[in-house]
Amino acid sequence: MNVFELPDFDDHEQVVFASDARTGLRAIVALHSTALGPAAGGCRMWRYASSGDAVADALRLSRGMSYKNAMADLPLGGGKAVIIGDPRRDKTPELLEAFGRVVESLGGRYVTAEDVGTTAADMEVISRVTRYVSGLHRRAGGAGGDPSPWTALGTFLGIRAAVKFKLGRQSLEGVSVAVQGTGGVGYHLCRLLTAEGARVRAADVRAEALDRVVSELGVTPVSAESILFEPVDVIAPCALGAVLNATSIPRLKAPIVAGAANNQLATADDGVRLHAAGVLYAPDYVINAGGIISVAREYLGGATEEQVKSEVHRIADRLLEIFERSRRENRPTSAVADQLARERLRAGERRLVA
Ligand code: NAD
Repeated sequence: MNVFELPDFDDHEQVVFASDARTGLRAIVALHSTALGPAAGGCRMWRYASSGDAVADALRLSRGMSYKNAMADLPLGGGKAVIIGDPRRDKTPELLEAFGRVVESLGGRYVTAEDVGTTAADMEVISRVTRYVSGLHRRAGGAGGDPSPWTALGTFLGIRAAVKFKLGRQSLEGVSVAVQGTGGVGYHLCRLLTAEGARVRAADVRAEALDRVVSELGVTPVSAESILFEPVDVIAPCALGAVLNATSIPRLKAPIVAGAANNQLATADDGVRLHAAGVLYAPDYVINAGGIISVAREYLGGATEEQVKSEVHRIADRLLEIFERSRRENRPTSAVADQLARERLRAGERRLVA
């Protein structure tokens, strides 16, 4: 396999392949860019079908983190680690420590955190051998802890901005929203939406997650099959990636898609499809940055909860800038966001060589 020729390779600064026979660790750490600061991004543990799939995931996800951190105005670059293995079967404290030593060996160029297949408790184990780790359990009085409420707040403010831009409405009172997935983020989003008087319907494949928003918040339950195609003002995907694709987009009835799920577009062409269909799409990595803002401030230190809140509030202005530019230039919001992110990275690179 030649990494430089892979479709997901995007001039990544460094790709590290690490193995440890004693613990069974096989990991890939991809540093896409450190132009704006240490490459930050979580560690995913997954049963990859091949090491090629793992490399592709690390390359794609680390570039996504560069874009996300740049657009969140954080002094951080983009990186991602993947560990090949089944988290339920293969994850041991010894393996996590071996991974932590790989992170430590990069001397702070990469900062890890939890992702799919890893938890805050795992980060505590990793922190025994390296300082370059975030997303730990919240210390009394400090920033950090569970990022989901912050992600939900940013998403809520982003929905408000999208509704103002597309529908000319100043508040969410009476606006109808369909939330796909009522887990960590979706639950808090439903709470914020109902508190502002939005009419919320939701779906989840886990009955207990859906029952909670129905009984606590008066949300209307909808089937998981139909949630994306509800005749509402806003669709908020908060579950899976790739839900916006060639099959689903023609069936959408809502004029706005604004939700927290990562990688909502199956391909870049789907951003074009949404634009052509007149659907206003809030680019996922811009609207869902609340969690990374909280995690980053925990790692960088010195920020109060109020400061984190005001940083998360800026997500709305950033989205409005993207929406306006998309309208002015008649281009998909996803393309505008990617271009803005790349411009910020290039500006960081120029500062480094200056
Ligand atoms: P979660 O696992 O807590 O919740 C996801 C929910 O979606 C679960 O309740 C699950 O049952 C449900 N779900 C799965 N498939 C579904 C389907 N087909 N239809 C309806 N519901 C379905 O995850 P989360 O932390 O709430 O994250 C949600 C999304 O937001 C993910 O894409 C995640 O990558 C993204 N995200 C999360 C954060 C964060 O701070 N947690 C930050 C940025 C992005």
